[in-house]
Amino acid sequence: MTTLSTAILGYPRMGANRELKRALESYWRGDISADDLHQVGATIRKRNWDYQKKAGIRYIPSNDFSYYDQILDFSCFIGNIPPRFGYVSGPVDLDLYFSIARGNTKDSSNNQYAAEMTKWFDTNYHYIVPEFDEATEFSLTTTTPFDAYKEAKKWGVDTRPVIVGPLTYLSIGKSTDGSNKWALLDKLIAVYGDILKQFEAIGVTDIQIDEPIAVTKLNNTQKEGFKRAYDAIAAASSVRLHLTTYFGDLRDNQSLVYSLPVYSIHVDVTRLSTSFETVLAGFPADKQLSLGVVNGRNIWVNAYDDTIQKIQRAQAVISPDRIVVATSCSLLHVPVTLANETDIDESIKQWLVFADEKVHELVDIVTGFADPSADALGANRAVQNGRKTSALIHNNAVKTRLSQIKPLDYVRSSGFSDRSIKQKQLFNLPVFPTTTIGSFPQTDAVRKARRDFKNGGLSANEYESFLKDQIRDAVAFQEDIGLDVLVHGEFERNDMVEYFGEQLNGFAFTSYGWVQSYGSRCVKPPIIFGDVSRPKPMTVDWSVFAQSLTVKPMKGMLTGPVTILQWSFVRDDQPRKDTAMQIALAIRDEVCDLEKAGIGMIQIDEAALREGLPVHVSDWDAYLRWAVDTFRLVTGGVMDSTQIHTHMCYSEFNDIIEAIARMDADVISIETSRSHMALLDAFVKFNYPNDVGPGVYDIHSPRVPTVESMSDLLKKATKLLPVEHIWVNPDCGLKTRGWPEVKDALTHMITSAKQLRESHNVVSVRP
Ligand code: GLN
Ligand code: ZN
Repeated sequence: MTTLSTAILGYPRMGANRELKRALESYWRGDISADDLHQVGATIRKRNWDYQKKAGIRYIPSNDFSYYDQILDFSCFIGNIPPRFGYVSGPVDLDLYFSIARGNTKDSSNNQYAAEMTKWFDTNYHYIVPEFDEATEFSLTTTTPFDAYKEAKKWGVDTRPVIVGPLTYLSIGKSTDGSNKWALLDKLIAVYGDILKQFEAIGVTDIQIDEPIAVTKLNNTQKEGFKRAYDAIAAASSVRLHLTTYFGDLRDNQSLVYSLPVYSIHVDVTRLSTSFETVLAGFPADKQLSLGVVNGRNIWVNAYDDTIQKIQRAQAVISPDRIVVATSCSLLHVPVTLANETDIDESIKQWLVFADEKVHELVDIVTGFADPSADALGANRAVQNGRKTSALIHNNAVKTRLSQIKPLDYVRSSGFSDRSIKQKQLFNLPVFPTTTIGSFPQTDAVRKARRDFKNGGLSANEYESFLKDQIRDAVAFQEDIGLDVLVHGEFERNDMVEYFGEQLNGFAFTSYGWVQSYGSRCVKPPIIFGDVSRPKPMTVDWSVFAQSLTVKPMKGMLTGPVTILQWSFVRDDQPRKDTAMQIALAIRDEVCDLEKAGIGMIQIDEAALREGLPVHVSDWDAYLRWAVDTFRLVTGGVMDSTQIHTHMCYSEFNDIIEAIARMDADVISIETSRSHMALLDAFVKFNYPNDVGPGVYDIHSPRVPTVESMSDLLKKATKLLPVEHIWVNPDCGLKTRGWPEVKDALTHMITSAKQLRESHNVVSVRP
């Protein structure tokens, strides 16, 4: 007989068929009413609760649902509305809520721009950043979390409501007036007291308080804040507090967290920096230990034997009736169900589990713990063994090649200054050379052709000639407006990662494996299940065709290994680094093939390099070392005269400028237009030696920047960087924009570059 219990920290909320996405977008278009939207939400919530209850889960979450983002929900709940929205008091309605998330789309004359959005720790989920200023007050405005509890109760499900904890909430928000946001902690603590009392009043016995910030490096204010907050919150009611930490282990914060006066502590044991025994050491015997064993961040079948062994070891310090078997974090980060995946290879499918399947894993683990002869254990063992030895996964040629990488493979023959002279001679570009980041508008026609081709409505030949026409037009357009370095336009790509994954061995794709990225936006990450190799060139034909249309340099366009890794579900049976290296070898081959085919400039996008930074700073160096190594491996095999570009957007470079420099790309293009070149700071301070293309055109906005505004930005850049190192380009790719704006904006950009050339009157030769 067992007394273990089970917990789920949160469930996906988009619905198995992205019902919520469709409803949200219809609501925003004005096609459905708020009631209709709420109906869709209620259906998804009920379905999730029923599913978990039927499986016998002990702690089922409520208030894990959201119409946009749970952090924004909490801000609205406690009345922390950015002052520009003019909120005074009373309930926060849907329109105000969505205005904070998306900007006031109904009235653009006012200043009600959207709140900032940023990545939730190291996930691909984006939350709405809380804003604080000196005058911020908190008081409860809505009853949503209470209503959610009652709603579940009405369906017969007694839930454990989830709220974000005060330390995480304050830590992830920003002060908008330079005031110290930590001065608000006491006010915030008070409002948590109110929340708990109200939960208690409606019959809630247990609350999940999410404090993922506890796995990061905490400063003294935060540490002291943890003590102060939890002492006060614990005293405010008799609701049992379940403190949940995830996305890593507690490290230096362990004794602090273990000493907090809470009922239960949840630790993510799928991402331990040390031994499992360390987690157990000093765990207070009077608390409940929630073990996050079922990984909420990936889609691989749990190894039951290992998990059960952990639980048995935990038993040595704590009695089983105080052990909870749980998901490592919310299941928000995985798709809903495997049930509809009929296209994926059956042998790969048996290695996968999505949210629904993970619910059953928890139950199986508890069953298997009580009964070592349970069928589920045998079946799981068979799957594990099958995976370990599968010919689908293991490719000896790839493993051998990986083991034979030599130090010289990471280095280009000459340093930047020598390469640069050769490249200048070869390309003979003017100063302030102009280029774009790769993609041109993905028009309805482009998307339709791709769809038709996939559905069989368009033959391969027809599709190819359609794409060639697009490229022809794009090249003619770029020559017409006078760009110096051209691109083919990426019309053949739906997505910069999927396009490569589809052509590489070791990748699989789902039909409905959607995961929320932000608001109604979902992504369908590829699954990297096995050793990665490149059966044949992936982009060479397109680049060669494009180059044949012009005498100007045509930039080849590739996605880098870290970005491919970061935006996929990555296999868990080897270190991420090894998988990244395998991808790097494949992309390296593509780079060399492009060079052989006469493509003299090659851009390798690493849009996700920075977001791959580990949650804990102690792990940054190790990550940056291999991340940069993969880039160097990709580019280490080309001639000096081949010009390597890279591109990063949304990036904040101060923390990582050394790593960026070690990548040693000949040219890096970055996003700077919104920050008015402030992002260049890091490059200036570091004395960054290679070429930089600071973006002068904010491609996230439909606005067409004027010549003057771009000239202003460029002039700023010339004050900060050596003139002969500056490139002129937009912030990012242009795929989301329309042709007319692109045409005007790029024409302005070129005019601005030309004016600058004249005023600088510099020749294009380096000293
Ligand atoms: N080359 C890609 C494009 O232009 C880069 C996109 C990105 O950085 N996110 O679309
Ligand atoms: Zn970009």
